[in-house]
Amino acid sequence: MIFQIPVPDLKKPPVLKFPERCANCGKPKEETLGISLHMGAQHRNRTVTLDLKVPMCKACADRERSIAKVTLIPFLIVGFIFGAIAFVPATLISPEGTTPQTMTFPLVFGGFVGLVVGIITGTVGEMIVKTLAVPFYGKFVTRRPLTILSFFSETDDLLGVSAKFLREKKLVQLEFENEEIAREFAKLNQLEPQ
Ligand SMILES: [Zn+2]
Repeated sequence: MIFQIPVPDLKKPPVLKFPERCANCGKPKEETLGISLHMGAQHRNRTVTLDLKVPMCKACADRERSIAKVTLIPFLIVGFIFGAIAFVPATLISPEGTTPQTMTFPLVFGGFVGLVVGIITGTVGEMIVKTLAVPFYGKFVTRRPLTILSFFSETDDLLGVSAKFLREKKLVQLEFENEEIAREFAKLNQLEPQ
């Protein structure tokens, strides 16, 4: 279920309330995890953020904290292995430098090829691991930005919750995997799902 919440004044983002139970599985709340969305505005010399305090049970919070196991870690491991494998032949086929300035060229070339191959294979590896992780982490895990794109991404995700700030439209988009929680959230904040 998707909600689009207007933020008419970027300096005063709305305060959103969550049901007092785990936003992912609905079990009693044991912890709170945060999502901060940057509003791209300044107020009293401070960057304005919309802070979401999302209740979670301990099991889901632990799983959320270990999400790197299915995102960053497979990316790094797969990328490193294949990058290293590609490095050797790339170094060998590279034209050899003859002057002191170009002597290191095979290493630079090999390193470059290794990096490109590493990023590509790491990303593919990450996609595969994420897909395999769906039964444990929920289907939202596959929608998380890939590690290689996450530096440019405006979204923020927790297990079962995905938040995004659409700056041009001045809308905060919130999506819940759990329909029951979404309905309670709608009631608490007097919102209509899209
Ligand atoms: Zn839970």
